[in-house]
Amino acid sequence: MARTKTTSKLLAAEAVSGAKKAPAKPAAARRRTRAPKYTRDEITAIFERFREREPEPKGELEYVNPYTLLVAVVLSAQATDAGVNKATRGLFAMADTPEKMVALGEDKVREAIKTIGLFRNKAKNVVALSEMLISEYGSEVPRSREALERLPGVGRKTANVVLNIAFGEPTIAVDTHLLRIGNRLGIAPGKTPLEVELALEKIIPDAYRLHAHHWLILHGRYVCKARTPDCGRCIIADLCKSPDKRV
Ligand code: SF4
Repeated sequence: MARTKTTSKLLAAEAVSGAKKAPAKPAAARRRTRAPKYTRDEITAIFERFREREPEPKGELEYVNPYTLLVAVVLSAQATDAGVNKATRGLFAMADTPEKMVALGEDKVREAIKTIGLFRNKAKNVVALSEMLISEYGSEVPRSREALERLPGVGRKTANVVLNIAFGEPTIAVDTHLLRIGNRLGIAPGKTPLEVELALEKIIPDAYRLHAHHWLILHGRYVCKARTPDCGRCIIADLCKSPDKRV
């Protein structure tokens, strides 16, 4: 097997000292090894509890069609759903199709969403993505991740939310809540949203995939909160193996 530079250095150091020390693992690898393991039955039990409590979970963003859903999700980056809804009620009353949004123009879009963080850039993206929908997709929201990700302001997370909610695809959009829960509970450890998304896809049984994203968001937003998890109210506390558990 070919030796990497790092391996060769370690072996050289070992030869000098004469001691057989195990090479130190990088921090990420140590974190991963420490993640608690869950059996398939335990994972199933966790998601079954979520399903029993909320069989048809819904997102909190308001929209009237796939296009306004796409716009609302683009606007929701680094903003609360409540804050986005406040702004989009007025915006969508004026423009609920790509054509109307382009006709409204960037200045008016910016004015309508000025209460949302990063509104200047977001207004630009909303108009630009509307133009692209008109010119390349017949004014329809495309049903593929690749096509969605080509739109200005649309990344993998936004594409996954739209595919899930508008088209019923079993995608898992990893936001800050899912990233935290995947790592805190150890069910899907990963340093990046993509790592956590792929880990969740691997462990969540098919029967729960469609709603997994919403269940985990709601759990993270209202129970397994960032600063202080509310373990006393947690319906999966007996299954949770997190070192942060406080029950
Ligand atoms: S027991 Fe606590 S840490 Fe574990 S999932 Fe529930 S709220 Fe989160």
